Amino acid sequence: MKYTGITYRPPFEADSLLLQVTQGCSHNSCAFCTMYRDVPFRTEPLDQIARDLEEARMFRPHERRVFLVNGDAFALDAGMLCRIADMIHGYLPGVETIAMYASIRNILAKTDGELRALREAGINDLNIGLESGLGSVLERMNKGYAPDQALRSLQRLDGAGMRYGVNVILGAAGAGNGRENADATAGLLNQTGVSLIFTGTIHADPGCPLYEDMRSGAFEESDLGGYLLEEQRLLERLQVEDCLLFGLHPSNVVALHGYLPADRDKMLLQIEKARQRLGGHLNERPRRFGEGGIILPR
Ligand code: SF4
Repeated sequence: MKYTGITYRPPFEADSLLLQVTQGCSHNSCAFCTMYRDVPFRTEPLDQIARDLEEARMFRPHERRVFLVNGDAFALDAGMLCRIADMIHGYLPGVETIAMYASIRNILAKTDGELRALREAGINDLNIGLESGLGSVLERMNKGYAPDQALRSLQRLDGAGMRYGVNVILGAAGAGNGRENADATAGLLNQTGVSLIFTGTIHADPGCPLYEDMRSGAFEESDLGGYLLEEQRLLERLQVEDCLLFGLHPSNVVALHGYLPADRDKMLLQIEKARQRLGGHLNERPRRFGEGGIILPR
């Protein structure tokens, strides 16, 4: 199988067959992201995809789930995606789900009819970097869309019968703005049929604009208590159905995993316990390691 550079996938796709259909990210300019800075966006040639599927057929002939990589494979036009889906079903007839990363911009570029055709081709479980429902955050993070476009795009996926999860960045609005960020994000998601919410906290590595803003003080990061308050507010405000809250990324202050609304109270209790544990450290900024993981004070 061919993979170029670092291949990223969501943690819950660990058992899926990873099939490279693009390289890099078609946007590649979010203010906090360095994932594909040195990888120009390009489409993998169909003959290479066929070679990879041929190989996959040998070692995973009964595969049921494929995750298309890299950064935003949904950037491919609908015709190309349907062609790739046909190839997957041809080589691996047991495949039921073809998932991938997608951006709101990718959805905006497709018609309702195309979204329905893609769903019929087995494409489902898109993983979307929504990040926030607050316009000022989306602008500052250079996401390339506004909240109303995000809302409409997610609702169009609902209309096409396509499942999707979204990534949400706690602290993306900076210190003191967590409540506003949580309210806007919950308000947007409450109007959608989102089935998974992946949470992490804002962090930036050298090489992106947000890193410079954090160093210069132009962007002030929340403290540990601020992150907990924002996540509490988000959980309290979310009115979604049968939606997995996946908060196990190491950049979170507290590890959470549960369904909304069923596990809301349990998760709120975990936040409260984390607050008690951190006690006098709540007003400290996080110390981090790779991928933004937080080293909690003892
Ligand atoms: S966050 Fe996602 S959309 Fe933004 S540059 Fe990184 S990979 Fe691309």
